Amino acid sequence: MKLSLTDQPDEFYRGKTVLVRVDFNVPIRDGNVEDDYRIRSSIPTIEYLSSRGAKVILASHLGRPGGRRDLKASLKPVFERLKDLMLGRNIRWVDDCVGPEADAAKKNLRPGEILLLENLRFHPGEEENDEEFSRSLSSLAEIYVNEAFSASHRKHSSTYGAPTLIEHRLAGLQLKKELKYLTKIRDEPDEPFILIVGGLKIYDKIDALKRLIGKAEKVLIGGCIAYTFLASKGVFTGDSLVERDFLDWAGKISSQEKIVLPEDHLATSTVKDLKDVKVVRGSIPAGMSGFDIGPSTLQTFTSIVSSGSGTVFWNGPMGVFEVREFAGGTLGLAYSIALAYFRGASTVIGGGDTVSAFLKTGLRETEVSHLSTGGGASLEYIGGKTLPGIDILKDRL
Ligand code: AMP
Repeated sequence: MKLSLTDQPDEFYRGKTVLVRVDFNVPIRDGNVEDDYRIRSSIPTIEYLSSRGAKVILASHLGRPGGRRDLKASLKPVFERLKDLMLGRNIRWVDDCVGPEADAAKKNLRPGEILLLENLRFHPGEEENDEEFSRSLSSLAEIYVNEAFSASHRKHSSTYGAPTLIEHRLAGLQLKKELKYLTKIRDEPDEPFILIVGGLKIYDKIDALKRLIGKAEKVLIGGCIAYTFLASKGVFTGDSLVERDFLDWAGKISSQEKIVLPEDHLATSTVKDLKDVKVVRGSIPAGMSGFDIGPSTLQTFTSIVSSGSGTVFWNGPMGVFEVREFAGGTLGLAYSIALAYFRGASTVIGGGDTVSAFLKTGLRETEVSHLSTGGGASLEYIGGKTLPGIDILKDRL
């Protein structure tokens, strides 16, 4: 178990500078934050520290500016949203994450104040885990807190190099919750365990799938990955994307009774061709691809999920939910997961896309046991990998 914020007495934080690695990598359009779930989920940690008199320094990446200053990837819009979300707290901004400006901003911070640094990835040293960059970043703080589970599979300076130079390294409140739920799912999910997988590629999920399928009572497979499973059983899937490398493995898996595959699909020639979307049962005709599960499949999946009483874990949308015409399967499934939660199941939704699809329905984070924002990181963790950003945190003795 990792040492977390709440393991230290309140006095531990008073007057200390705390560097919090957050994940504010949020979608921004026309200078406005489109989805602030990631920002909101780190507020309890920021509040916890600020209210105990710490000087809180927040560091994050945004997008892929490629190691140079690119104002399109500035965190300034996040700063504006953070101020709105934390009215009453004194929140400051600095145009750089290391160097003289950052050092000066740190010196001017008073207990309880919060400082947001500009995008870490404006410096190449961040992604290269460069020693000098790590030294500059670490010199800002006496305590390090990781509140960015979704970035913890990366061996970058802010997740690895810099914190190893800071003596106190703690898990943030949300990160602690992530570890609690994901460890439970990985090691001993409450039974019956229903696993739902969708999304684009088996390749990204194979380790997690191998680990979880054996523990599950039912495995519901939708999204693009379902076509590899269907093809492995000899079902004709038209032009849908099939991962040839996984056909043998998928064939062995799908012979098990617990595997539930789509029986119908919403199909058309290309994802842009919305005039000719058809519900097709069984095989998909040549020239067409499946872009969502069909209504009968949704009904089957919904009735299995909403009667779930143990654990439900969902990763990967059921279709191209970004296009309204192909969002039905994903949104319908989200409601059935909320229903399972109301009926007492432990429900965990993992992956950036899957979480944003869940929230798109209007359902809230209070209608699920846990929303895990760490897409790649949660799959790697469940697949049994050690995440560098978690590994460097101090263990609870
Ligand atoms: P992942 O990150 O693997 O969970 O994949 C998420 C992406 O999978 C989303 O952007 C979806 O649009 C996409 N996706 C889901 N189902 C399909 C499908 N049937 N065909 C193409 N893309 C899909």
